[in-house]
Amino acid sequence: MRIDLHTHSAVSDGTQAVPDLVRAARMAGLDAIALTDHDTMAGIDQAQEAGGLIGLEVLRGVEISTHVETGGRHRPVHLLGYGCSPADPVLEAMLAKVRTARRERVPLMVEKLAGLGLPLELAEVQAQAARATSIGRPHVADAMVARGYVADRDEAFRTYLHDGGPAYVERYTPTVAEAVDLVNQARGVAVLAHPWGRGNEAFMTRELIADLARRHGLFGLEADHVDHSEPDRRRLHALADELGLVATGSSDHHGAGKTKNPLGACLTDPAVYGKIKEEIDRRGGQL
Ligand code: AMP
Ligand code: ZN
Ligand code: FE
Ligand code: FE
Repeated sequence: MRIDLHTHSAVSDGTQAVPDLVRAARMAGLDAIALTDHDTMAGIDQAQEAGGLIGLEVLRGVEISTHVETGGRHRPVHLLGYGCSPADPVLEAMLAKVRTARRERVPLMVEKLAGLGLPLELAEVQAQAARATSIGRPHVADAMVARGYVADRDEAFRTYLHDGGPAYVERYTPTVAEAVDLVNQARGVAVLAHPWGRGNEAFMTRELIADLARRHGLFGLEADHVDHSEPDRRRLHALADELGLVATGSSDHHGAGKTKNPLGACLTDPAVYGKIKEEIDRRGGQL
């Protein structure tokens, strides 16, 4: 069984509509995916319906924007929640607050870009996010590409939109510990997304991960991810073993938005997938 537990659709910042993503996953030879759009589960029902028609299993997922504070600075951390009850009012209220903060930040980023000599109309960003419940920097990047300011999303991030970059604007996120608690309370399981990607080991320390595991009930680490080096993947598998966590693997596919993340780029062991589903079942979450 080929399983990819981290994918994005146009409901957030992937470029494929949900049914297109599901078909592409089947074409890529996958048997199961998790749809993990940023801060929303709005695409899940449609994904499960489309998957049911072609024999692709779709696990309910969400990638939650969170942070840790180190040295007075907020560092972004992504947390995957699997099997969370969509009816949980506390989790949904938190996700809605994150989505509102995402929307409110866009005009501020557009203002900063104008100050850098790169004017954009707000409507141009909105057009790029037409089908999105969850708007984000990649949509701003797409509007910059459409204007010819940059060649692709990567250049937009590298030059302007990266954390702390000249057009970056911070927004509300919960702490990663709060988000793990909320996922658990919504009867789902929490897995740290790409914990050591993009140099994040500097603040995503073993101590912090151990604390999330022991005191907050973190369930797993996404070890196999294209943003991790081979040695880091092995070290994350070892750390997961040491802490009694599962280690997952996935693509973090965003359609045409990220060229290094094709569907199935990394895979999750079927036994690990089984454990995740069993635990969701045991907690009374929703697959
Ligand atoms: P946002 O949701 O607005 O914080 O933007 C997060 C999205 O931007 C995710 O899809 C990330 O993978 C992507 N992203 C964040 N940093 C970078 C970067 N330096 N280069 C390319 N993509 C990035
Ligand atoms: Zn994304
Ligand atoms: Fe992420
Ligand atoms: Fe992602």
